[in-house]
Amino acid sequence: MNASTTQPGTLFEKIWDAHVIEQGAGGDALLHVDQNFLHEGSFHAFGALRREGRTVRRPRQHFAVADHYVPTLGRDAGVAGVTDPEMRGLIELLEENALWAGIEHAGIDDARQGIVHVIGPELGLTQPGMIITCGDSHTSTHGAFGAFAFGVGASQVKQVLATQCLWQRQPKRLRINIDGTLAPGVGGKDVILAVIAQIGAAGATGHVIEYAGSAIRAMSMEARLTVCNMSIEAGARAGMVAPDDTTFAYLHGRPFAPRAQHWDAALAYWRSLASDPDARFDREVTIDAGALAPMVTWGTNPGQGLPITGRIPDPAAASGDARRGIEAALAYMGLQPGTPIEGLPIDRVFIGSCTNSRIEDLRAAAAVARGRKARIPAFVSPGSTPIKRQAEAEGLDRVFTEAGIEWRASGCSMCVGTNGDLLAPGERSASTSNRNFEGRQGRGTRTHLVSPAMAAAAAVTGKLTDVRRLLAAAT
Ligand code: SF4
Repeated sequence: MNASTTQPGTLFEKIWDAHVIEQGAGGDALLHVDQNFLHEGSFHAFGALRREGRTVRRPRQHFAVADHYVPTLGRDAGVAGVTDPEMRGLIELLEENALWAGIEHAGIDDARQGIVHVIGPELGLTQPGMIITCGDSHTSTHGAFGAFAFGVGASQVKQVLATQCLWQRQPKRLRINIDGTLAPGVGGKDVILAVIAQIGAAGATGHVIEYAGSAIRAMSMEARLTVCNMSIEAGARAGMVAPDDTTFAYLHGRPFAPRAQHWDAALAYWRSLASDPDARFDREVTIDAGALAPMVTWGTNPGQGLPITGRIPDPAAASGDARRGIEAALAYMGLQPGTPIEGLPIDRVFIGSCTNSRIEDLRAAAAVARGRKARIPAFVSPGSTPIKRQAEAEGLDRVFTEAGIEWRASGCSMCVGTNGDLLAPGERSASTSNRNFEGRQGRGTRTHLVSPAMAAAAAVTGKLTDVRRLLAAAT
């Protein structure tokens, strides 16, 4: 039930209602923020806060980590090894601001370092029922735990630092039901690319998505994190999955998770959060998981995707803005209508980012790379230093290096390239990241978004390849 109204409620409504401090006009509300994450980009917010003579109201409800500007090579030297003075300055400034504010901080050489949306869940900071913010679009990732998590701008980061609350307009509710069983070689990345291809890159604008259905329930936390991560690429304010035993098993024993009797109390609350059976959604979409194939994007937004078995779309089949959009994307991507997407030559492969750099992602990529040789340059950047260590303990690093795939350190890396990990101008990548916008991985570069298994398949064949064939050959 929805606590304030005793009406049947959705997961989102229950969290929203539990966090309202003051109701404003037109559905706006002042909300309490449980957890805020910070990375190097927070310097604007800290600068404004310090100029105005304010302090951080609740330092223990923030966590800072260096991820966007950390190099993925030469990390043994710590911050001294960052050769670019501007990048080094931003990494040092985050540490200085965190120290000033009394906020816990994982710097470049901290054993907990990693991408902000990877380490939040990993440390148990991300928990069901929370409202979570970060000055970063892909904060939606944390919704996989049944949290309302969303990206905010610099002025809102400042507001959260200073007051631990934030005015928000209530979004509409969209439930996406993914029912059925995913075929081998098809995973969370394929599900979310298929969702965005179906509803469009603006298809969830103004909504918070709840992902439901038997395929979501069967997913690991890693796969749910991948799905929620890309909610923003459909225009959604956030994405969420109701917490269940999979969620609780992942969280139990993590450093910041509740302990002893606090765990039992938290569990009782978390179990109450699932949407009531008769809760109402503004929209519903249903997708047959069993019909999905490995996906790949062909265009310049994440909604321009298709199964690996598909052909490049023909703008002549569309009209108006849609036609012009396809024409522009094909021109940028250098593709011809009607040609099969499978077999398209690729220059470079990137396996990493907050979408697909968790241990399960690395295992999936390694399963394809094992015993094969990369035909094109490729590298792996694990989502966090603990994931790197775990993968090394499992021997995954050796699988990659024996295949000729570089094994690097953790950070945002070639997802956005702010640390200098960029494609050469004009190069075409198969990438496990979340954005294929023009120039996202460097000037004039062309990005095809794929799953970790599909990225590894591209690395060992030098072209976009249906990974199901390689997996079948390995059995
Ligand atoms: S990995 Fe990419 S999308 Fe994720 S936080 Fe870093 S830059 Fe943003």
